[in-house]
Amino acid sequence: MSIELDLTGKTALITGAGRGIGRDIARKLSSMGANIVINDIASSTDADEAAEELIAAGGNAICLKGDVRNYDEIEKIIKNTLDKFSTIDILVNNAGITKDGLMMRMSEDDWDAVLDINLKGAFHTIKAVTRPMMKQRSGTIINVASIVGVMGNAGQANYVASKAGLIGLTKTTAKELSSRGITCNAVAPGFIRSAMTDQLTDAVKQEYFKAIPLARFGETEDVANVVAFLASDLAKYITGQVIHIDGGLVM
Ligand code: NAP
Repeated sequence: MSIELDLTGKTALITGAGRGIGRDIARKLSSMGANIVINDIASSTDADEAAEELIAAGGNAICLKGDVRNYDEIEKIIKNTLDKFSTIDILVNNAGITKDGLMMRMSEDDWDAVLDINLKGAFHTIKAVTRPMMKQRSGTIINVASIVGVMGNAGQANYVASKAGLIGLTKTTAKELSSRGITCNAVAPGFIRSAMTDQLTDAVKQEYFKAIPLARFGETEDVANVVAFLASDLAKYITGQVIHIDGGLVM
């Protein structure tokens, strides 16, 4: 492994990492030598398995459950991370949900549920890591947004608003923290095969497929690879950017 891709001694917290994209990001960063903190909601049994899998493969990992909507729980997770590994170097805001529907029929509860996890959750984790990263004078934050946050999407007003907001939060975080040696970027995946996209109808899947120049759906590994680059020293001069991982869907 090249020096720049080696994350030995660094610690990464990945939210919503029990399954899907987050779990693959955890696998990838662990394979590069990072200590991994798997976060997911309290009821997730996948999260325990995810940490066990990394340990069985020779990595250092712990599972710290907590809801990104709850600031106190997040603060506790950061404290426990520092107690266990001493530093927090990489934060990946991956936890996210959808509750789709046309706006005229969207309930306030569905709006709030998506904004609370996808956007406020990231605000909580960023706020909680700011102090330790500032003390270290280093750190990188990677937010998992979506191309729909760039292009809009009928039937996803809540989700699109959360991801567009996350892109704005990314740029502001980059500007507020760059003088302390901390970078913040977003990735914007297109259609990635996961439990989230499994819920979509075949008709919707076909529509997406026709619009993808590289003529395949993305895999969770496609996202993990770009996050790995952004987490590494190869990306140390990149901040405030949004990297599309979508097979060319949005150009
Ligand atoms: P996923 O399989 O549904 O994974 C999401 C994870 O987040 C789950 O493990 C979920 O836990 C966890 N989570 C939900 N609420 C949480 C909370 N309050 N606190 C902590 N963790 C929570 O979805 P995915 O496809 O891997 O998506 C991961 C991220 O990529 C999301 O932010 C999503 O918006 C984004 N994204 C996905 C796609 C795609 O095509 N799949 C495209 C663009 C962006 P449970 O297992 O308990 O539900």
